[in-house]
Amino acid sequence: MDDLIDLRSDTVTRPTPEMRRAMAEAEVGDDVLGDDPTVNELQEMSASLLGKEAALFVPSGSMGNQVCLGALAPPGSEVLCHDGAHFLHFEGGAAAAHLGLMMRTLPGHGAVISHDQVRAAVRPGSEHTPRTAVVAIENTHNSAGGSVFPLEEARAVAEVCRERGVPVHLDGARLFNAQAATGVPAREWAACADSLSFCFSKGLGAPIGSMVCSTAEIVSEAHRLRKRLGGGMRQAGVIAAAARVALETGVERLVEDHANARRLAEGLADLHPDCVDLAGVETNMVYVDLQPFSKSAVELRDLLREHGVLTLAFPGATSVRLVTHRDVSNEDTERALEVLKRVL
Ligand SMILES: *Cc1c(COP(=O)(O)O)cnc(C)c1O
Repeated sequence: MDDLIDLRSDTVTRPTPEMRRAMAEAEVGDDVLGDDPTVNELQEMSASLLGKEAALFVPSGSMGNQVCLGALAPPGSEVLCHDGAHFLHFEGGAAAAHLGLMMRTLPGHGAVISHDQVRAAVRPGSEHTPRTAVVAIENTHNSAGGSVFPLEEARAVAEVCRERGVPVHLDGARLFNAQAATGVPAREWAACADSLSFCFSKGLGAPIGSMVCSTAEIVSEAHRLRKRLGGGMRQAGVIAAAARVALETGVERLVEDHANARRLAEGLADLHPDCVDLAGVETNMVYVDLQPFSKSAVELRDLLREHGVLTLAFPGATSVRLVTHRDVSNEDTERALEVLKRVL
């Protein structure tokens, strides 16, 4: 496995030796009863880092989104979101199936749904219509190529939502990539949101886990929902210990992933200028349009695999997403680029 270069996702990282050690030595309790000291410390650390009152450790980003949306929005109400939102496309329909929420999409521009779009879409309130209960934003935006939601626009969305009394949820699975790309501290985006979730298990490199941050009241409701969804994890300190190492050692090095993604993008643009949108490569993802090469994603995946490079391919797709992360070095990046050039 070790000589494979895995560009499928930033979720594929293996725990570092330091994470393994922290896991082996973690002090644990029963987190469902609230007395796992390692989980409690990580929750306090995360809340304070993001400038929120409280935090809740959850098994996945999908559960993080669910418990936040569920805490903010009653069944039958409406969530306004980007038409490429992760929870709309990649979470198994959870918000509809488990929470009874209606998703109303707004056409995204890059990562952004704008404050004007939001202002026009929030319903004024009538017994005939669903209530607009949450506006959800995503940063960085997965289906928009890992792009950043600009802070000024996030503040403008938050302002409109405050005027209209609608809470904002931030899906910040890769929020620290936005910080690394811009130098803007993650807590500045957090300040635009009533609730947020971020993942330890993406670019930060932990094996498992996400964190929800919000007010004590919303976190307490999120806690009830976590239990309802089966997300109570008992001696969860074992994974929280690795997540803590990820938070302490994984944030600063994200710039390396971004530089590697840029290297891939520039190399591919040399090959064919129309296959990547260089300006759209802001963080650790490169979306490659395969039409100039007359190849499908599945064909490319199979060719790359023969040369030890892994990518994800959805059937019928004519583009692929390449993702850099902690387990892709500079040399791996150069090698992957050579292979890509050869097979394309
Ligand atoms: C990965 C991801 C999630 C969900 O995380 P899981 O841990 O895979 O459930 C949520 N939102 C975004 C934007 C993501 O990229």
